[in-house]
Amino acid sequence: MVMVLGNSHQYTPRCFISLFLVGSLCVSAAPLSIDHTASMQVHQLLMGRDVALDRGDPVQTMAASMANFCYVVEYTPGKAFLVDPAWDVEGVLGFTKSKNLSVTCAVFTHRHLDHTGGRVNLARNKVVVPGLMECVQHGITVKVGKDDVEATVKQTGASSNSIVALNEGDEIVPGAKALHTPGHTPGSICILLNDGDALLTGVSVLLISK
Ligand SMILES: [Zn+2]
Repeated sequence: MVMVLGNSHQYTPRCFISLFLVGSLCVSAAPLSIDHTASMQVHQLLMGRDVALDRGDPVQTMAASMANFCYVVEYTPGKAFLVDPAWDVEGVLGFTKSKNLSVTCAVFTHRHLDHTGGRVNLARNKVVVPGLMECVQHGITVKVGKDDVEATVKQTGASSNSIVALNEGDEIVPGAKALHTPGHTPGSICILLNDGDALLTGVSVLLISK
């Protein structure tokens, strides 16, 4: 069985994140959790539904309209890495804490604001969308496709020394590898999970909305 999870939103350029899983699956209610094997579990968090719930906060209100996904990949019992934790890093870390998960790193599938966070003009005011920089401040190792590192530094204000540049085939954590899949951005990556029988496609598979 092949499963595709994807989303669209109104931000330009449009970004999508999809998860392809091959094999037997168990899917539960939101936040969506997918038990792929006894050793790996993927939790899908939707901005505005599972996290970024504060409608009094203009950034979180924007997050809800964007409807991005963040993934928490529990790759071994008690340990997880994050995929695209933007908009509400505290909320995502609250989720991992509720699951008693230790976060070992955060991976960003590409350099766009709605995935990495950073500075943006919102209603004529400059605001900062939480993301990669807040992960760094929490002491979480952050990883980005090597060809997106320079732009991510400009977007987020993070030091280039604080970012691990991922090359094709680099191990993210045991059992998960980066695949360089340029297109949406030069440094876009997909993440091969569970030693190759599941794929987090990032934005490399584009779904047309509208
Ligand atoms: Zn994008």
